[in-house]
Amino acid sequence: MNRRAPKEGLHPRNRFRDGYDFEALVGCRPALARFVGPNAHGNTSIDFADPAAVKALNQALLGHAYQLHDWDIQPGALCPPIPGRSEHLHHLADLLASGADGGLLPRGSDTAVLDIGTGASCIYPLIGAREYGWRFVGTEVDAAACAWATGLVAAHPEVSELIEIRQQPSAVQCFKGVVRAGERFALSMCNPPFYASAEEAAEGNRRKRQNLSAKKRKGGTRRLEKAAGHAARQGAPAGRNFGGHASELWCAGGELGFVQRMIFQSAKRPALCEWFTTLVSKGAHLPRLTHALRAAEATDVRVLEMAHGQKQSRILAWTFRDRRGE
Ligand code: SAH
Repeated sequence: MNRRAPKEGLHPRNRFRDGYDFEALVGCRPALARFVGPNAHGNTSIDFADPAAVKALNQALLGHAYQLHDWDIQPGALCPPIPGRSEHLHHLADLLASGADGGLLPRGSDTAVLDIGTGASCIYPLIGAREYGWRFVGTEVDAAACAWATGLVAAHPEVSELIEIRQQPSAVQCFKGVVRAGERFALSMCNPPFYASAEEAAEGNRRKRQNLSAKKRKGGTRRLEKAAGHAARQGAPAGRNFGGHASELWCAGGELGFVQRMIFQSAKRPALCEWFTTLVSKGAHLPRLTHALRAAEATDVRVLEMAHGQKQSRILAWTFRDRRGE
């Protein structure tokens, strides 16, 4: 079998930057075999428009790279692209290392992370616990997603001591209702809901689906994969392949509203996290968010650009270090 083309621009520690080794992946997860074949460019790949193929690939990647052999996706929920989610964690590890003595990467359970909106997939805690040994509290507002994530943690004894899932009772709260008195985290992280309403999410879904079928007609699976990856990063359901329940996809005010609330709420408990961070899918939201951070008197604000191939995304990070009396 051919190896797939390398993924340009991924972080040096990203285990998937040399492309997928389908032979090894199938060896780890034989059920993947029936989905693997040559794409329009003659490279070995899968059909990224087929949800069963995408799920099988995710299971193989998590099994092979992280020895997480019992991962599954809640029917209809978002199927997160594994290379992109691990990319996010590597950039956060660098952020923590930037403040450490000698720039050492933090490893082990002394590093506590709050993952806001962990989703049914529990993807950041699972990868982060395996990759760096960090301890996670994953919060989730959707009861069914919360139960699914809890089941995934229980199914993986190698990480179950490191991950705790807590249900957030209010969709407009990020910290209140889930963090305990005196609790402290090295960082909070989040992949926020993107759309501002169910209608907008449905419209986004329709457009993405159109996009995917146009790309498939024009350019074969490689381009299709790019479109699907883009759609998934946006938190969009992307038609039949990536799914997505309502609460995953939208919240009051969309991404901008969600992150503005997070900033406001973080300023009320500045000592909770050394770094507060969130993914920002839409670069155009940054000026208003950095303005909100100035108003909140954050003492350091960073934008961590993540670019791989033509994909562009960023993590917004802020701290109240040196200002935290509480
Ligand atoms: N972290 C996962 C899921 C991201 S989708 C991934 O990257 O794939 C965003 C998730 O946030 C959804 O599961 C949604 O239900 C949840 N969510 C929305 N508002 C929330 C809130 N205020 N607190 C916790 N979770 C929330």
